Amino acid sequence: MMKIDVLTLFPEMFTGVFGSSILGKAAAKGIVELNAVNFRNYSTSKHGTVDDTPYGGGGGMVLKPDPIFAAVEDLVPDQAAKPRIILMCPQGETFTQKKAEELSQEQHLIFICGHYEGYDERIREHLVTDELSIGDYVLTGGELPAMTIVDSVVRLLPGVLGNEMSAVTDSFSTGLLEYPHYTRPAEFRGLKVPDVLLSGHHGNVEKWRREQSLLRTLQRRPDLLEHADLSEAERRWLVLQDKRSEASE
Ligand code: SAM
Repeated sequence: MMKIDVLTLFPEMFTGVFGSSILGKAAAKGIVELNAVNFRNYSTSKHGTVDDTPYGGGGGMVLKPDPIFAAVEDLVPDQAAKPRIILMCPQGETFTQKKAEELSQEQHLIFICGHYEGYDERIREHLVTDELSIGDYVLTGGELPAMTIVDSVVRLLPGVLGNEMSAVTDSFSTGLLEYPHYTRPAEFRGLKVPDVLLSGHHGNVEKWRREQSLLRTLQRRPDLLEHADLSEAERRWLVLQDKRSEASE
């Protein structure tokens, strides 16, 4: 079973997310154990202080190292255990599906959610194994980023998704964006589902999906094509599609 601990000053924020939908079911099935731990409980001060003013002056409060070090040491009593200790940080490596796949192979993940101006640098330098950002924007705290990352990791664990294939074909898993989906009715307000999807011809459906996936990636995220696993014929086909769309503009 994978264990995920999230160090936060707002554990109540995780109640709904960890208890609902796919994450709640994964926990109920015993595939993952999800804990939100209040690191204020590890403060040694009388008032449970976890932050202080920055040395050198300036605005904002800085999270102190001692409660966070103490919380991690309590969660990892075995010195030989090597959990991934992941700092939520807008300055970190940008989180991707590839990183989600990498983290889904681990036994124990610990997330540290910041607040206020930031963390004491010694946490960064001497405690964590990874620093992750969910994008180039700044949130008030690390809770929403941690929830985002936990969700994307847990859905990759075997047995979590009903249809295992749905994670395999998801956007980014294949290096491409996913093809478009349709469901009943076959015609809605005069808008028809592509004939090929109604044909029952499995080979043609697969070919159409692959082409749509390639086209969508070309139109929306051409940067992904550089590292995607494509055949020579597919690369030539894409060049042709690109020229066609340029000509029609
Ligand atoms: N002063 C910091 C800076 O400029 O890098 C920003 C601090 S932010 C207000 C407070 C906390 O929210 C961060 O320590 C981090 O835990 C979290 N956070 C904010 N934006 C984030 C992002 N894009 N990805 C991951 N964590 C983020």
